[in-house]
Amino acid sequence: MTRRSITRQYPEVQPDLPPRSRGVIALLEENCTVCMLCARECPDWCIYIDSHKETLPAEGGGRPRTRNVLDRFAIDFALCMYCGICVEVCPFDALFWSPEFEYAEYDINELTHEKDRLREWMWTVPPPQAHDPAAEPPKEVSAAEKAAQRAGRGGR
Ligand code: SF4
Ligand code: SF4
Repeated sequence: MTRRSITRQYPEVQPDLPPRSRGVIALLEENCTVCMLCARECPDWCIYIDSHKETLPAEGGGRPRTRNVLDRFAIDFALCMYCGICVEVCPFDALFWSPEFEYAEYDINELTHEKDRLREWMWTVPPPQAHDPAAEPPKEVSAAEKAAQRAGRGGR
């Protein structure tokens, strides 16, 4: 209230956005297991996923295993409302927010980003924020430390 508002002369002057701004969604394809949770939870139904099953030969005489192979993963940013539900629900850390926002198009169809383009956005995802030193350690770390202590006691 005590400061004058200043209009940034975009695009000559880039806006000073917080690093966690919701600009565009990036996909780390290697982490995606095609669980479909993001597509099911998306309120706009603007995530399109196609996949097929692949059978892996059994190792050591067991039964052959099947795995999902991602054929298509696309997000239609003309429909997306940037709610972040898909990023939140992904159980395998395959979706991330990038602050990049300069992807306006003259043709609305170009706003559907296929997996290669979503993969490219990964280079613009900022590193995760450092943990608060006063915060409790993550549950996984505490569990691992307890297991290590138990193993140490058992080994003596
Ligand atoms: S941010 Fe929301 S609307 Fe956009 S793709 Fe994700 S779940 Fe759908
Ligand atoms: S929720 Fe994550 S792992 Fe599942 S299909 Fe979506 S991006 Fe892939």
